[in-house]
Amino acid sequence: MGRKLRIALVGGGIGGLTAAAALSRHGIEAHVFEQSSELREIGSGIGISANAVKVLRRLGLEDALRERGFEPEASVGRDWTTARALFRLPLKDGRFGAPHLNIHRADLLKILAAGVSPAQIHLDSRCVAVSSCDHEAALAFSDGRQEEADLVVGCDGIRSLVRATLHGAEAPRFTGNVCWRALIPAETLPPGHVPHDVTTWVGPSGHIITYYVRGGQLVNVVAMRETTKWADECWTAPGSPEEFLTAYADVHPHLLTVLSKVEDCLKWGLFDRDPLQIWSNRRVTLLGDAAHPMLPALGQGAAMAIEDAYVLARALSSAREDIGLALRAYEAARVPRTTQVQLASRKQAEIFHQHSGRSADLRVDWIYHYDPTSIPIAASDVRATDLP
Ligand code: FAD
Repeated sequence: MGRKLRIALVGGGIGGLTAAAALSRHGIEAHVFEQSSELREIGSGIGISANAVKVLRRLGLEDALRERGFEPEASVGRDWTTARALFRLPLKDGRFGAPHLNIHRADLLKILAAGVSPAQIHLDSRCVAVSSCDHEAALAFSDGRQEEADLVVGCDGIRSLVRATLHGAEAPRFTGNVCWRALIPAETLPPGHVPHDVTTWVGPSGHIITYYVRGGQLVNVVAMRETTKWADECWTAPGSPEEFLTAYADVHPHLLTVLSKVEDCLKWGLFDRDPLQIWSNRRVTLLGDAAHPMLPALGQGAAMAIEDAYVLARALSSAREDIGLALRAYEAARVPRTTQVQLASRKQAEIFHQHSGRSADLRVDWIYHYDPTSIPIAASDVRATDLP
């Protein structure tokens, strides 16, 4: 057996950190290069569905997730005008082979970082160029440093430099939706007011999701609304609670009570991209939002990054030194799956926002049943043709 592979992960978000943990677990040396001076996530919650929890379980992180997160009973849909129940999907009965866990993003990032040796995380490392030949790849950083690796993985998010290097710079697509995110101390609400579910309140041209994080101490609110314009130059901005309340003034009083407790919120423009069929060239590939940014209507962006991370580690581990073979197996497993989820996320937003008041379905069984730790990624999945 040859020397250990050395993988450079550009970006220390959920995707990059999960990849570092998964690669290390497979005996592969991985280094995360993060542009910020600390690992950080925005202050809001995130839902980690069963398909991704299967990966985090394999990485030994499930107990920590349960400790810091919250396991909801069910995913429930309601009409935001009448509060009428539209759908109910039980989440706690084991049907998907792992729990669904909601967690504060900062807590998730800490848990992921704890699964990686500090020596593998390089902060203040803004990658400004990536190049590669058939046998290795090189990275350049804004402070003039250079690094070499057997493979560079762009985990650098929706505005990925690595993606632009591979495919040319192209701005992401504004989806015509904005969203507000907020965290509310649960103690400010009447006891039992927010059920132990992921509740999706749907209405004309928008939807609002509520769930607990931090063991039930905080209620996370994500509210999406269609808009005809996104005027701010900055694509994320502090939002005003007054503007937020005005945007949802017509919702059911039960929900309005929750929204009226919001004291701080963030406002985001929501962007995505069309599915990308080729992710890799020579010794460079993509993972997470860099490869497949999507609307959050199915709560799957981070889940797909986590799935990518584990499948990439498995592919590299089983192909040993043959990185070309590993990348073909990785793409063969991941491109169809993430394409389907990207397109389904757009569709789901439409279903929620165009619902008639009588029905609004949520079809996620096929997503949650998937197990990235055991799906076949054997040589039979490898495309016959070579990469360009
Ligand atoms: P990012 O989180 O964007 O991380 C990229 C990292 O790369 C950053 O740390 C950045 O600083 C770094 N970086 C960028 N450029 C460089 C560079 N040149 N050099 C070095 N470092 C660099 N997903 C779910 O699974 N469940 C949910 O419930 C959910 N809810 C969501 C709700 C909303 C409103 C939104 C907008 C998204 C939601 N998502 C959800 C999606 C999820 O947040 C993203 O898909 C996920 O965070 C992407 O992770 P990533 O690591 O690929 O990218």
